[in-house]
This record gives sequence, structure tokens and C-alpha cells, in this order.
Amino acid sequence: MKVLVLNAGSSSQKSCLYDLDSRGKKPNFVSPIWEATIDWTLNLGHTLLKVKSNGQEYSTYLSDHNRLESIKTMLKTMVEGETKVLEHLSDIDVVGHRVVHGGTKYSQATLINSEVKATIEKLIPLAPNHNPAHLEGIESVENILGDIPQVAVFDTAFHTNIPLYAKIYPLNHEFYKRGIQRYGFHGISHEYVSQRTSEILQQPLKNLNLVTCHLGNGCSITAVKNGQSVNTTMGFTPLEGVMMGTRCGSIDPAIVIHLMTEYGYDGEKINHILNKESGLWGMSEISSDLRTILKAKSENNPKAILAIEMYIFRLQEAIASMLPSLGSLDALVFTAGVGENSAFIREKVCQGLGFLGLKLDLEKNSQSLFNENIATADSNSKILIIPTKEDWAIASQCFQLMESKN
Ligand code: ADP
Repeated sequence: MKVLVLNAGSSSQKSCLYDLDSRGKKPNFVSPIWEATIDWTLNLGHTLLKVKSNGQEYSTYLSDHNRLESIKTMLKTMVEGETKVLEHLSDIDVVGHRVVHGGTKYSQATLINSEVKATIEKLIPLAPNHNPAHLEGIESVENILGDIPQVAVFDTAFHTNIPLYAKIYPLNHEFYKRGIQRYGFHGISHEYVSQRTSEILQQPLKNLNLVTCHLGNGCSITAVKNGQSVNTTMGFTPLEGVMMGTRCGSIDPAIVIHLMTEYGYDGEKINHILNKESGLWGMSEISSDLRTILKAKSENNPKAILAIEMYIFRLQEAIASMLPSLGSLDALVFTAGVGENSAFIREKVCQGLGFLGLKLDLEKNSQSLFNENIATADSNSKILIIPTKEDWAIASQCFQLMESKN
């Protein structure tokens, strides 16, 4: 089965093609046979298309800037020239889309129809940077590939069973009726690493209490019990929770009121500050990229030192805050850019949680050993680093949905 995965952001479009054949079973991981990225962020009137296939990488500038035309050109590279991997685009069996916001309605991968599209559209106010791009992606595929099955895999879906007491904000019932509640994000990643943890530890998910830490530019921590998310740090939007690359995470909401009443800031300005000018970027005044800040820290830059201390402290607080939802901790799992690559952050986070009996094997941690326990034998909980594979997880969910329909 040929599965095309489209992962649309506000200014980029990542895509991969998987060729899956597992005869009805859950497929084992395979690498994509073709990958492409369209980047619209270059403000020079250019759109950059990069394609990786047949062991080669190619990049080219496109003259068309709209999503439909760019996607058309991108898909052509699958059937033409040196990047060719298919005879015809009609060889693709299903297209899976990562959809950031599915609201309360979708708890699993869902075949896209007009009702699903209407829901994604209705949720645009809650995901203004992403849901419009997803819709354009879905409509572009309809335009180019006709009535091929398309599947939405929602980043919110994994969190739909968080219990009400953890989901609702203590405002009042009227606001809850208006849809103001914790939705949670990065669900595809948290679910994937939870399943991998169960495979690696050879224990059924239903027996495991996990805390999964997705630490990329955006960061979120999730409590996973019985294979389900039971609490997560991101909330109504991806702004809540821990300190992130450019997002502040949780702050006292009265700060916003103060900025409005005392300084006359409007919603747009506050939104920009909280989402784009805060977090590691705001506190280090150097970069949102942890590597750059770690380098500045090694040169004794005081703002870099403070930014990293804050980042680590907020991670520790968040991990500890997940424990009441679990009752015990079988494994702490690190994933995404920082989680997979920064031995220093993992070490410091675990050190501060030592009172829980969590003991990292420093040697294994420094080697960043993936997909195995990197805690000491006498640690109360296992510790793992699992590379996230969101696109693969989407392809795998599409495959299983299509198989179940046959
Ligand atoms: P995104 O959320 O955009 O997918 P990633 O998962 O790629 O982001 O994570 C990006 C973050 O990972 C950046 O802050 C980057 O500095 C950090 N990162 C990547 N490699 C390392 C490394 N070797 N050490 C420390 N941080 C790293």
C-alpha cells in the first residue's frame, strides 16, 4: 500500500511516501521511499522545494507560491526525472494528513469527508496557523488526485479521554460550553513513543504508567496510563505548560490583564510576545535554539545560564505534576530535538527528580542510547530516549484504517 503523508505547517509542507506491505498485521517501521519539503518562509519571492529519493537530495526554487501549484510541482517529482519512484500518481492508495486540531470530536484517525472538513474549518479560530493549511492541503489533493481516500490524523486525538477534572479549567460551566478546555497537542508523538516503550520494555501498554516528554521547539509533557493520555501540559492552545523555544508556557493570566490595562497592549501584541518573543528566546536574548544557548552558557553568559536553569526547573515541575494522574512511574521517556539529543538537559532534569528514586546511568545517557533503558539497575523507574516518528505514525494509522475497511 502506497501511503502519502502530508504534514502542513503555516509556512512549510513536509511530505513523505511510504510503501507498506505487512499483510494485515500492524506494519513494522520502514523509511519513506520519497520525501519532500516546500518552504514558503524565504521572503525573497521564492518558494524552496527539496526532494529526497533514490538516495539523492535535490532542491529547486519554484515560481508559483500558492499551495496548490507548489503541491502539484512537488507531487510531479514522484513520477518524473531522477526523483521518480512511481509510474503514476494514481498508484498512491491513501493520503494521510497531520491535523493539529480536531477539537473534542475525533479520538482516532478518520476518513475525510465533507463533515470532517467542516469541523476542521470550524476549529480555525483555535488553530489559526495550522487548520487553514490542512484544509488547503486536503483540497489540493482532491484537485490533483481526485477522490483518493484521505485520512486525518489529529494531534489532539490521543488526549480526548483525559478525565473531566483534568480537562476543564476552573472558570465556569458557560466557558466550558464554549469549548474552553484542555485539548492537548503533540498527541501523535506521545502516542507513538508510548507504544514504542511498550515494545522495548516488552510489557503491555495497559500495565504501564508513563510520562512522555516531547521536547522540540514546542514542548509538552504527557501522563500515559493504560495506553491513554490522562493529563498533558499543553491546554486550550499549545501555549500552556512548560517553557519552550519562543513560547512562555504557563504564566499568571493576570499578567495579560496588567499589560492590557497598564500598558495598553492589544491582543495581537500580547499574542506575539507570549508565542514568539518569550521562552528560551526571551530569557536568553540570544536564540530559541537550545544548542546556541548551551554554547553561550559554556562561555558563562549569565542570561543563557538563567534561561537554561528556568527551562530545566519548569520541566521538573511539569513531570512531577503528572504523577498524581498516574500513581506510580514505570518509565520516563524523552523524545524530539532536545529530548533525543541533549544529554545535559536529560541529566539535569533527572537529577532534580532524584527524590523519586529516578537514577540515570550517566554513561548510557552521555552516549544518547536510543530505544533502551538508560536508568541504573536500582532506579525506581526506567528512563528511555525514543526518537519520535510522527510521519511514520500517521502512515501506520492510515494503513491500519484502510486495512480495517477492506
Ligand atoms: P520542532 O518542534 O520544530 O520539530 P525539533 O524536534 O527539531 O523541533 O527540536 C528543535 C530543538 O532541538 C531546538 O531547540 C534544538 O536546539 C534542539 N536540539 C537539536 N539537537 C540538539 C543537540 N544536539 N543538543 C541540544 N539541543 C538540540
